[in-house]
Amino acid sequence: MILDQRIAVVTGASSGIGAATARLLASRGAKVALLARRTDRLDALADEIVAAGGDALAVAADTTDPITLAAAAERIGATYGAADLIVNNAGVMLPSAIQARNTTDWRREVDVNVSGVLNVIDAFLPGLLEAAASGRPADLVNMSSMTSHVVFPYMAVYNATKAAVSHLSRTMRTELGPQGVRVTVVEPAMTATELQGHVVDEGINAWVAQAREAFTWLDPNDVAEVVAFTTSRPAHVTLSQVVVYPTRQA
Ligand code: NDP
Repeated sequence: MILDQRIAVVTGASSGIGAATARLLASRGAKVALLARRTDRLDALADEIVAAGGDALAVAADTTDPITLAAAAERIGATYGAADLIVNNAGVMLPSAIQARNTTDWRREVDVNVSGVLNVIDAFLPGLLEAAASGRPADLVNMSSMTSHVVFPYMAVYNATKAAVSHLSRTMRTELGPQGVRVTVVEPAMTATELQGHVVDEGINAWVAQAREAFTWLDPNDVAEVVAFTTSRPAHVTLSQVVVYPTRQA
């Protein structure tokens, strides 16, 4: 199988895009470490992957906490060896009107979507560089969003965090590419997951509900396929930025 020499880490593997990506990478032969906070979900997914003939390890980790991430990297290294395929996917979306000054949600979005992404890079970059230095493929895939370059009201802070992830990725590629580490940013549009389940604003929920009716949203597997495709190109090929839209989304 095309990914059978790879050791993958997927953050936010307890639901949505992360769970679908972990399942798909495992089905293509990668050993997959599943990271998130909801360990019951991770254990169930690991059992499912193993029952299907794959290899998975559930690892409880909060990406906003560098100490638990360092421990996770150590445990994964001891079990599988250093990871060479990182899917930096965990994220939250908590939209609200800017004048509501919901600073708790602003901070949470920045903590998970920006600091969390950086913490994951800090914990796993040495393994990627080690893989690349020994001539093996090495992938860092950051999950951004089409909102990194398209604006919507009520999404200012979320959009800013995703713009940060996209620009961080493009910039890092110029440093890490020459060392053999591929950096890819994936920017999905509307995808049917639990992400919108955290929205509390009634007006935004009504907008989401009508958007669900208006066109067929991406399935998490559609995004997972993009990750599996980019990471299974020959080592000299990098897809640096992939935007994924539901066809009928304007
Ligand atoms: P989900 O809500 O289904 O998944 C989010 C995942 O992030 C969960 O597994 C959750 O796990 C994890 N997570 C959240 N906070 C933390 C944390 N502090 N530490 C570790 N894990 C955390 O949403 P999606 O699958 O849609 O989201 C995945 C990524 O895709 C996000 O970065 C999102 O911004 C992005 N995206 C999604 C789009 C969509 O329309 N759905 C469109 C564009 C981008 P747990 O709670 O168990 O910790």
